[in-house]
Amino acid sequence: MIVIVGAGLSGLVCALELARAGAPFVLMEKNARVGGRLGSIYEDGYTFDLGFQVLLDNYPAVRAYLDIDALSPRYFEPGALMWDAGRTFTFRRPKMWTDFRSALQTAVDPGVSWGDKLRLGMIAAGLLARNDEGILDEADAVSTKTYLEGFSDAALERFFRPFFGGVLLDNELETSATLFRYYFKKFLTGRTLVPRFGLQAIPDQLVGHLPGGALRLESEVTAVAFEGGKATAVRLASGEEIKLDHLVLACPEPVTAKLIGARVREAHPAAVIYFRAEQSIYPEKLLVLQAGHRKLVRNLVQITNISPDYAPPGAHLISATVLRARVPPSDVAAAEQEINHIFKLKPGTLSHVRTVEIPYAVPAQAPGNVFTQKFAKPFPNVWRCGDQVSHASFQGAMESGAVTAGTILHDA
Ligand SMILES: Cc1cc2nc3c(=O)[nH]c(=O)nc-3n(C[C@H](O)[C@H](O)[C@H](O)COP(=O)(O)OP(=O)(O)OC[C@H]3O[C@@H](n4cnc5c(N)ncnc54)[C@H](O)[C@@H]3O)c2cc1C
Repeated sequence: MIVIVGAGLSGLVCALELARAGAPFVLMEKNARVGGRLGSIYEDGYTFDLGFQVLLDNYPAVRAYLDIDALSPRYFEPGALMWDAGRTFTFRRPKMWTDFRSALQTAVDPGVSWGDKLRLGMIAAGLLARNDEGILDEADAVSTKTYLEGFSDAALERFFRPFFGGVLLDNELETSATLFRYYFKKFLTGRTLVPRFGLQAIPDQLVGHLPGGALRLESEVTAVAFEGGKATAVRLASGEEIKLDHLVLACPEPVTAKLIGARVREAHPAAVIYFRAEQSIYPEKLLVLQAGHRKLVRNLVQITNISPDYAPPGAHLISATVLRARVPPSDVAAAEQEINHIFKLKPGTLSHVRTVEIPYAVPAQAPGNVFTQKFAKPFPNVWRCGDQVSHASFQGAMESGAVTAGTILHDA
């Protein structure tokens, strides 16, 4: 019997592969829903995603395991609105390399200087010539901030910090430049989407392929029993014990540390403050990047521009990402003020509807600290899986689930 702890993306893909091979397994999930850090809350006609996250359609694992059409994808326009001290600049990535209009618009937009555009173009050209997944094997020695030395402060503050600070949940850009290059290449070549009815549709689609009885919700694993250096059973919060031959820990790093002892890296927190507006605050299907190291709102999106179904008819839902573990009412008020200022809104235009706090969002992935599959087998029959041994992304988590299942099947 193989016991998988955690029905996030990694545990679900591991389970799918084991099911395909006909291996006996059970998937234990402490929550009442699957998806882990990826999911949505549905309330009063709103869809509140658990953190602003986007699916890139060019991740190999996404292509292998998800039916994107069945998610009713709603696409972002490639690019961003960059706001800096009262001025808005539009950066549009050409949809195709023959999309000369967008390319020209971006070329003449004064948001980023000619020198910065040239530097950016050279990085992009270098990345386009490389194999995507091969980028991850390159030396992991410098931070994104160091890698971007040479760009002007304006480019750093208007684009890189709010965009990649928001993607990596790292305002200081201390994340490994290898990951920056990988995600940048993915954003350059892929399409960014959310499912029409929210992120929860992604794990829900995966779980739909599992055999009945394979998943046990509301089943928290609280301890692992060992004998002769091997795991023999897990104990649940209910007191039940399940005997096992192999154990897959597809839970976040701190949970693995509690269950079997492991190093825990620092983590980046995030939160989303959701506001409602009666009138649209901007029309484009673009992410809005706010310049300024010390700004509270790192980036924001009127998510109903992408999928109107995220709010009841006539309402607009704005999702503002802040890089904080906890959001007191004073931060909600400060975020509202910042958004009012960006769009010159009258006070009272926005009303706060919900805040989602994610104290453990992603592990800090500084150079040399991006864990890899080599950390994945701490005991002869125990595997660690998910973004605790891969890069923190849908791709990293799903691929890790597939690799873990493959290794167990190979070893068995
Ligand atoms: C705010 C935010 C923004 C992000 N943005 C993006 C993005 O835009 N694009 C992208 O590709 N990635 C993004 N990510 C990263 C991505 O969501 C994660 O890397 C990925 O979902 C991790 O999946 P996982 O399976 O490794 O872990 P998890 O999703 O954490 O799954 C672990 C599961 O284990 C369960 N569990 C925990 N303890 C126990 C226990 N004791 N017993 C049983 N079950 C247990 C949990 O409930 C959970 O379901 C973002 C993450 C966050 C939080």
